Amino acid sequence: MAENVVIIGSGPAGWTAAIYAARANLQPLVYEGSATWDQNRLNGTTPLGQLNLTTEVENFPAWPFVDNAVLGQFTKSALAQDRYNNLAHLYEGKKVHQGKRAAFGPELMEFMRQQAVNFDTRIITDDIVKVDFKRQPFALTAREGGTVEAQAVIIATGARANYLGLPSEDRYKNNGVSACAVCDGALPRFRNKPLVVIGGGDSAVEEATYLTKFANPVYLVVRRNVLRASKIMQDRALSNKKITLKWNRTLEEVLGTDKAGVTGARLKSTTDSATEQLDVSGVFLAIGHTPNTDFLAGQVQLDPKGYILWTKPQRTYPSVEGVFAAGDVADSYYRQAVTAAGTGCQAALDAERWLAEKGLH
Ligand code: NAP
Repeated sequence: MAENVVIIGSGPAGWTAAIYAARANLQPLVYEGSATWDQNRLNGTTPLGQLNLTTEVENFPAWPFVDNAVLGQFTKSALAQDRYNNLAHLYEGKKVHQGKRAAFGPELMEFMRQQAVNFDTRIITDDIVKVDFKRQPFALTAREGGTVEAQAVIIATGARANYLGLPSEDRYKNNGVSACAVCDGALPRFRNKPLVVIGGGDSAVEEATYLTKFANPVYLVVRRNVLRASKIMQDRALSNKKITLKWNRTLEEVLGTDKAGVTGARLKSTTDSATEQLDVSGVFLAIGHTPNTDFLAGQVQLDPKGYILWTKPQRTYPSVEGVFAAGDVADSYYRQAVTAAGTGCQAALDAERWLAEKGLH
């Protein structure tokens, strides 16, 4: 028997799609990604998506600051014991946060997952590595073997932030190195401290501008002598007195200690052999994202950067009928947890209506 709907991916888009599909009696099956395939860990594509790699999330609605101990009780009451165990270190032990805080990304993701489970969503902890959308029902092949058939498929595999690949960058991830100023910029460790942003596109300018609300100066490190960003964003960067442009430079090394996290950044010139050291407490990468679409192997139309193309305004339809796309895998522009959740909802509603129209459910 083919599944009604298979959801690939386990970020906010995937779980929101699952909650809606489950409550529509579609009995969704979610492939949440492999937890054991090493490349997932290295690429930042492990189950629960990008939010699972962040610390505090202050912009997801309905999450005001809450006392850490109270949140621990809430988490214990909401989650199955084995899932609570993944988060227990946040609430138990001598070094836990004291007082109020926003939700952490991993908490939000465990809550979303649990909410989908509460409505009988079935979950397989594996990657889909191959799809056949040329037949109906569709066929999906998992990494650890086995093929599943599905009448409808929702792709919610997200995107991963690009990093430069420096070992020091990896070492200080979540300890001063971030690829999301909107997620992390307001954290106490960055407030009123010098920061550095790497990149010259709209994201880099936007992130640098955003960070000037909290930090001064913000060094914007651009590898060429021009910004790729749109004119209006360029003007914004050039006129902001708190932003210092560092032209023709790139990041050579993140400096710091395990205790303090990031304390500096060493830049190197892209035109000669000069280097320069900046005392900063944060390094923000804004050098683009890569959508997780390799496994589609040309079966769905993508844009030049590899993002799935939605083919109709206000709908989550890619180029294949019966396939739907939600979240960052189809959104190179907003890339927020709440917008991903929104399109996850849309994809489930689109799938439900499509299955009904075709008499498949
Ligand atoms: P992007 O336009 O691809 O820009 C990436 C930037 O990172 C470029 O400046 C690039 O330099 C630099 N870069 C890439 N690899 C690098 C490396 N290894 N070392 C140093 N620098 C490196 O990506 P984006 O800024 O994330 O924007 C993505 C899309 O979203 C764009 O279409 C953008 O317009 C849109 N967006 C719009 C807004 C807005 O309008 N408010 C905000 C954010 C994003 P080069 O220029 O030298 O290639």
